[in-house]
Amino acid sequence: MPRDLALRVLREHLASVYGAYDASIVVHFGLGVALGAAMYIASPRAWILAWMAAHLLLGLALYLMPRWHADLPLDQTPLWARRHARTVTLVSLATATAPWLFISRDDLSATSVLTVVVIGSCARAMQLLWPLKPALYGYTLPMMLSLITALAWQGDGMHLFLSMFSLAYLLFTLRVGQQQHRLLTDSLVLRFENEALAERLGEQIAAAERASIEKTRFLATASHDLRQPLHAIALFGAALENEHPQSRNAQRLMRAVNALGSSLDTMLDVSRLDAGVVEPALEPVSLDVLFRALNPMFAAQAEQRQLQLRLRASGLWVRSDPRLLHRMLSNLLDNALKYTARGGVSVRARVRRNGDGLGDSVWIEVVDSGIGIAPGQLDRVFEEFYQVDNPGRERSHGLGIGLAIVRRLSRLLGHPVQLRSRVGRGTRFRLVLPRCDAQAAPGPWAVRAEAA
Ligand code: ADP
Repeated sequence: MPRDLALRVLREHLASVYGAYDASIVVHFGLGVALGAAMYIASPRAWILAWMAAHLLLGLALYLMPRWHADLPLDQTPLWARRHARTVTLVSLATATAPWLFISRDDLSATSVLTVVVIGSCARAMQLLWPLKPALYGYTLPMMLSLITALAWQGDGMHLFLSMFSLAYLLFTLRVGQQQHRLLTDSLVLRFENEALAERLGEQIAAAERASIEKTRFLATASHDLRQPLHAIALFGAALENEHPQSRNAQRLMRAVNALGSSLDTMLDVSRLDAGVVEPALEPVSLDVLFRALNPMFAAQAEQRQLQLRLRASGLWVRSDPRLLHRMLSNLLDNALKYTARGGVSVRARVRRNGDGLGDSVWIEVVDSGIGIAPGQLDRVFEEFYQVDNPGRERSHGLGIGLAIVRRLSRLLGHPVQLRSRVGRGTRFRLVLPRCDAQAAPGPWAVRAEAA
């Protein structure tokens, strides 16, 4: 066992032994005085009083002695453990005089009282001292060996029987004590190892979090800084296009610049969401107004792909951040149109009654009749840069970040996203939002959206 771990285990053992220090002194010396008193009453002799006085003085000295306490340095622990073992051995040696002084062949009652007191003390010591093995041996051995030999010395059958019984009891006590000691030590080692493991894990999590924050900051700075030169390139490209309207290269340059710009925008969005700087401003939102704003954004794309696009009015209102909800629905709609070759895409809202009396929910569903997503991919499509069937990372197929943004926004706004899809049969994304009552006067978002 490493030294530091062994010291910590020993310290726990010592703490548990010292926790019962006062009670042990009172019980041990109380029993000694009671024994002396019983012997004195049976046959008053002056030396018994002297024995009792010496015994009491020893008890008082132990009570006043400096003790171990939890503030002491860890490396002093073995010193204190040895000190405690020596102290209890001394106490036991002092008490070990009793059997030889009080046991006599003719006085069976004195023998019984003494045997009971010594065995009782050992039984108690076994419970208290097994964390410290040297202290357990130091306390039990002198007293018990003195009892066993004093009993055997009398030579008659009764005393010999008591001697054998005491010996068996001593062996049993030490064996159980050793087992208990091992059990406690093992469980302490396990506890400390677990604590060390948890500490290391905590450090690693903190390091991973720091790395993630740094990565987020780096991404935010990089995409922000790249925007300025890109803006300049876009201006020069536009000038070039004006000067040479027929130039294919100028047109290609502008397409590449626009694509790069939108990628940087997306990355900036993600890093801003990860950095926690996007604060949602919840307010009543009219879904009809929101859908009316979305319609013109996607109508051309739908027409170009010869798809039907339907955003159905519902008259419903929800509590959300209109700007962020608009972003979520745009990403879902964009995907739905992108991954549908035939049929169409519809966006609808309906009320869902909650049984728990917490108010109604509104389900907003974006449903398409497109290629669908295989069951094994359903969770993965929300991961960053994950795209089904785009191993070559073809930029024209998207960045693989749209749904990652949807998931982040869903957590930020508290609008769970549910996904159901069947390959070749289409996909349905559902957002669950809290419903709110229709507002008499439309909020600023409604005005803005209408203007848009
Ligand atoms: P991308 O830029 O590739 O669209 P997204 O994060 O938006 O990235 O989507 C991740 C992947 O999930 C897509 O590559 C696509 O395979 C799949 N996906 C998303 N929406 C749909 C949909 N409506 N139908 C079929 N597949 C979809």
